[in-house]
Amino acid sequence: MIQTLLSNLALLTTFLFFSSRLFKLQPTARSSSLSNKVKVGVLHGLFGVVLMYFSVSVSPQTFFDFRNNTIVVSAYFGGLYSSLITTLIISIGRLLLFGGINPSSLMGTFNALVVSFVSVLIFRKVTHYWKAWLGSISLNMLLAISSVTILLPAQSAEILPCYLPMVLASGLLAAYLIRFLEKSDQLLVTVEQNEQRYRSLFTLYDTLLHAAQDVAIIATDTKGIIHLYNTGAQRLFGYQAEELIGKHTPYVLHLPSEIQEYSEQLSRLHKRPIEGFEVLVDFSQHSDSQQKEWTYVRKDGSHLHVNMIVSSIKDQDHQITGYLGIGTDITEKKQAEEKLLEANRILHQLSMIDGLTEIANRRSFEENLEREWKRAERSSEALSLIMFDIDYFKLYNDTYGHLGGDFCLKRVASIAQKSLYRKPDFVARYGGEEFGIILPQTNGQDAFLIAERIREAVEAEAIQHKGSSIKSVVTISVGVATMIPYPQMDKESLISKADKALYQAKQEGRNQVRSFT
Ligand code: GH3
Ligand code: MG
Ligand code: MG
Repeated sequence: MIQTLLSNLALLTTFLFFSSRLFKLQPTARSSSLSNKVKVGVLHGLFGVVLMYFSVSVSPQTFFDFRNNTIVVSAYFGGLYSSLITTLIISIGRLLLFGGINPSSLMGTFNALVVSFVSVLIFRKVTHYWKAWLGSISLNMLLAISSVTILLPAQSAEILPCYLPMVLASGLLAAYLIRFLEKSDQLLVTVEQNEQRYRSLFTLYDTLLHAAQDVAIIATDTKGIIHLYNTGAQRLFGYQAEELIGKHTPYVLHLPSEIQEYSEQLSRLHKRPIEGFEVLVDFSQHSDSQQKEWTYVRKDGSHLHVNMIVSSIKDQDHQITGYLGIGTDITEKKQAEEKLLEANRILHQLSMIDGLTEIANRRSFEENLEREWKRAERSSEALSLIMFDIDYFKLYNDTYGHLGGDFCLKRVASIAQKSLYRKPDFVARYGGEEFGIILPQTNGQDAFLIAERIREAVEAEAIQHKGSSIKSVVTISVGVATMIPYPQMDKESLISKADKALYQAKQEGRNQVRSFT
C-alpha cells in the first residue's frame, strides 16, 4: 500500500512542479481571466483522473489516492471556478472510469465537493499561507478518516495509520513545493527587474557622460589613476580617453608650478607635507568636495582655466573608493576678468594723472602726501615739501595765448620731473600753474638744494617770457618746508608752511627759493 501511495505522491509532486511552472504567480492567476481559470480547472481535473489510475485498491469499489490534493491546488491557483471544474472532471472520471455509481464513488464525489468549496473559502479568508494550507490538509485528513470508517469499518485500524500520514505528507509537500517555486519565481523577477534598472541606469549614465560636451568628467581611483574620461574632457584637453586612462592625473593635465604652489600652501596649513594627488583632493575646506580654479595644460601645450569640482566616491561602508572631477572651462571668463582688472588699473592710473602735463594730479598728490606723512610719522624722519609757482603766468598767457601757456606748463612740469633723481621723490601739478614736490627722508637743507636746482633748471630752459618784469624768460618762485611729523599734526600744516615760503619768495622779488622758518 505504501509503495503505491508513494508512487501516487511522486506523480502528484511531478505534476505540481509542472502546473506551478504553467500557472506561476498565484495571485495574478487567481484574478486572471475566465479562460485561464478553466485551463487550471481542466488540467488539475485530468491529473486527478490520472492519479486514480495509480491508486491503492482496498476493495473492488474502494481505492485511495491523493486526487483531492489536485482540487486544493486548483482552488489555490484558480479559485472557485477552477476547483469546481476540477471536482467535476474528477467526479465524472470516478463514476465513468472506476466502477460506476456505488457508495464509495458517491462518497468520493461528496468529499471532492466539500474539499473544493471549503478550500476556496479557506484560501479566500486565510491570508497566512501555511495556516491556509494546514486548514485544507486537515480537511483532507478528516474526510479520509470519515470515508475509511464509513466504507471499510473493519479495515480502518489497518488503513488509517498508513493513509493518514501520507495525506498529511502529500499536503505539506504540495504546499512546500508551491511555496518554494513561487519564491524562486519572485526572486527571478526581482533579479530581472534589477538588471533592467541597472541597464537603463547605465544607459542614462553613458548618455549623460558623453552628452556633456562642454563639461569635463574625470574619475580616478584613490591614488589618482584615471579610469573614466568623457567626451567633454577630450574636447577641452585635447587628449583622447585611451591616452589618459591609466595615467596619474596631476602630472598629466596640471601645471606643475601651480600644483607645487598649492602643495606648499596646504602643507603650511596642515603642518605636514601634502603632495601629488592629495593636493587635488584636499577637502579640508568642505567635508567631501573641493572646488578650485586650476590651470590645465592641453595636449598641444596651451593653457586653459578650469573650475574643477572634485567629490569623493564612497562605497556602502562610506569608504572612499575614488574621486570624481567635474570641470568647466572658464578661460573666457578669466580673460574677461583680467581685461576688466587691466582696464580698472588703467582707469585708476588715468584718474591719478594730470591730462595736460602728464605728471601726477592733485588727487594723486594728496594720496602720496598722506602716505609719506604717515610713514615719516612712524619712522620719525624728516619729510620735505616744495611748492612752486610760475612767475607772471597770467601775463604769459596774455602774451602767448592760452595754448602757448599750456605748452609752457608742460615744459616746466617735465623739467621738474627730470630734476628729481630719487625714486620716492614725487612731483605733481597742484593746480593751475602751481606744482608740488614731495621729498621723503629729506632734510630742509637738501630740500632747499633740490628746489634751487629746479629753479635754475627752469630758468636755464630759457622759455621766452616778454611780459615778465624780472627776466625775459620763464622763472619760478619756490617755497620749501620740512617737518618731522608727529601725531597731533596733519599734513596740511606742511602744505601751509610751504605755501607761506612760496608767498615769501614772491614777495621778495620772485625767481627765488625760500624756506619756511
Ligand atoms: P605770480 O607771479 O604772482 O604767480 O603771478 P601770476 O600771473 O602767475 O599769478 P597767478 O599765479 O595768480 O596766475 C595764475 C594764472 O595761471 C591764471 C591762469 O590764467 C593761468 N593758468 C592756470 N591754469 C592754466 C592752464 O591750465 N593753462 C594755462 N594756459 N594757463 C593757466
Ligand atoms: Mg599761481
Ligand atoms: Mg603765478
